[in-house]
Amino acid sequence: VFLKCENLQETGAFKIRGAANKLGALSGDQKARGVIAFSTGNHGRGVAHVGRKLGLRVVVCLSERVPRYRVEAMEALGAEVVRHGASQDQAYLKTLELIDRQGLTLVPPFDDPEIIAGQGVIGLEIMEDHPQLDTVVVPLSGGGLIAGVALAVKSVNPAVRVVGVSMEAAPAMRASLQAGRPVEIEEKDSLADALLGGIGLDNQYTFNMTRDLVDETILVAEDEIADGMFFVFDRHRLVVEGAGAVGVSALISGKIQNPGRAALVLSGGNVDPALLVRIAAQRYNQ
Ligand SMILES: *Cc1c(COP(=O)(O)O)cnc(C)c1O
Repeated sequence: VFLKCENLQETGAFKIRGAANKLGALSGDQKARGVIAFSTGNHGRGVAHVGRKLGLRVVVCLSERVPRYRVEAMEALGAEVVRHGASQDQAYLKTLELIDRQGLTLVPPFDDPEIIAGQGVIGLEIMEDHPQLDTVVVPLSGGGLIAGVALAVKSVNPAVRVVGVSMEAAPAMRASLQAGRPVEIEEKDSLADALLGGIGLDNQYTFNMTRDLVDETILVAEDEIADGMFFVFDRHRLVVEGAGAVGVSALISGKIQNPGRAALVLSGGNVDPALLVRIAAQRYNQ
């Protein structure tokens, strides 16, 4: 089993890759007017980080559900944070209003060719490091990460199996795949809060790419997510957030049949330290 440690990225998650690719491709005029993102946290942080390096105005629109420590991380990077509504879809409506009024350019969290391509570099790196791979396991929410990784991996070797993992609490992509079209589901609290949010009813890329390129999707329960976070902390001394640990959860719970040589994408490490300490203390005391 190989671990792809995106939790060690400068902003603590892989989203810096898509953000860098997208912002780098903007015109001079778009750069001068600034950009806006809506996000459960890690995407906003990636955009804020890259935007600051390029000297751009960055606005981030968030739902009230996003934890305080994530908001503070974005504000510390100089982003203007606007909070609106109880779900990512409502924050999105506010985003559209600000684009209309202020001429900002939208940096979508997943459903965008540049974003997908940026995240997909993870797949190229994995195949370069481990050409003999059997399975790649990828956390799955809106599908930008898995669409890019699956496209990259399958273009190098179509025989590699790509497995997406979401949480039982709110698996928007899985529900959409089952319905045969993008559907909305109710948002619930989860340890994998970076996987919350719909795939967008007007989804253009990631739904089709996930349907066509991903071999299977697996769901994990909240206690399995905690087990995955604890496993990488205890065995590898790595701090990984719930969303980043779901691949580990799926593997150690036995939900992935015949993984063979597997690469797991540890997609992020931005967890509230107090939460990880609670999870670890519970398990050390068992
Ligand atoms: C955004 C995110 C994901 C999911 O990526 P999608 O492109 O929305 O599927 C997984 N893990 C972490 C840590 C994230 O921040």
